[in-house]
Amino acid sequence: MSHDFPTRISFARAQEIVQAVALAHPVDVERKPLSRALGRVLAQDVVAEIALPGFDNSAMDGFALRSADGDAPRRLVGEQFAGRSGDFSLAAGECLRITTGAALPAGADAVVMKENARIEGDTVVPAQAARAGQHVRRRAEDVAVGDTVLRAGVVLDASKLSLAAALGHHDLPVRRRPTVAVFTTGDELRAPGQPLAPGEIYDSNRVLLQTLLIAEGYEPVAWPVLPDDPDAMAGALKDAAFSFDLVLTCGGVSAGEKDFLPAFLQREGQVHFWKVLMRPGMPVLFGRLGEAHFLGLPGNPVSVLATFLTLARPLLDTLQGRAQPRPRLRARLSADVSKSHDRLEFLRGVLACDDEGRLQVTPNPADGSHRLRAAAQSNALVVLAEGAGHWPAGTLMDVLPYAGLDAGR
Ligand code: AMP
Ligand code: MG
Repeated sequence: MSHDFPTRISFARAQEIVQAVALAHPVDVERKPLSRALGRVLAQDVVAEIALPGFDNSAMDGFALRSADGDAPRRLVGEQFAGRSGDFSLAAGECLRITTGAALPAGADAVVMKENARIEGDTVVPAQAARAGQHVRRRAEDVAVGDTVLRAGVVLDASKLSLAAALGHHDLPVRRRPTVAVFTTGDELRAPGQPLAPGEIYDSNRVLLQTLLIAEGYEPVAWPVLPDDPDAMAGALKDAAFSFDLVLTCGGVSAGEKDFLPAFLQREGQVHFWKVLMRPGMPVLFGRLGEAHFLGLPGNPVSVLATFLTLARPLLDTLQGRAQPRPRLRARLSADVSKSHDRLEFLRGVLACDDEGRLQVTPNPADGSHRLRAAAQSNALVVLAEGAGHWPAGTLMDVLPYAGLDAGR
């Protein structure tokens, strides 16, 4: 196939191209109520229009008083509950019953816990003198008016959303979720649950891609398996390109007789690159089809996992304007590793914390890109740099977690 697009490029170059393309095509902004905004990327800074706390208030249930009165008994002059705006003002020798979150009365500068005071009729006797400021939450000690509390590009999690709520926001401007059409390809594929004929295998990549996407908050739409037929493929893919931000395929991108996708994309769209010097995942194809981004992942299951995590996910992150970096972890190898080829390699391994709290990664020796069990028994990709090399046990390696760090794998 004659071509004029980059091929056999370095992994770093592939990531740069993905970034540049995604930056040029940000998805739109929409407003979402806070309870629907989990995992979304914030589209604008949030600047506080009110202070937090909004007024000096009590951190305890007890008695508001003046620290200058020492441990002298106080005259109880009333009560102040959270949510009430009673206009109390304390004079010397006075105190006020108060609940957590209730506004501190004028004149008071400390709170004594209920448990540390004795009540005798209308008199309250503190067990000891209160320090000025004791159990008092000061106005604006958390957030002052005008503070930028959330930056555009952060991913909204529960605590960030509740901060926005505390500042009075009912909804927030967020990036729309890119829409993704998922295709698996190959005459050999059968849906799980159906009988297999000789030579057939179950389609495992469909659920792999669907759930990788769902775990990131997307709502992928999966098509029936595409046969290895150029016309049938072209029809379905062009159709999807009309209505989705990303057309994500797997299989049909290497150099076999039935790998029609690179030529198809060159003919019907635009190829940004085909083939990246990485392992697994070398034949990955990236380009544009109509109005959609097109990412053709290889067919081998572990290649799908590696290329999804290292190319598809960053593409989707950047389309949404995500500025918050993914955690980049480093862990010590617990066994020697070597490789004789030049490509960047993503090995599977088990990432765990040792008894001293250090991250350790145990590479799985089953490194074939069809070895799905090794991937299921692992929880991270271990990055082996370009060039042949030997990494003795104890070497600090970059790792990319793809599942939880729980024990017992
Ligand atoms: P291909 O690039 O289409 O030649 O596929 C490479 C390898 O991955 C072949 O062994 C395919 O049978 C296998 N494969 C392709 N698609 C899937 C899929 N959806 N589920 C499981 N294995 C697949
Ligand atoms: Mg195939």
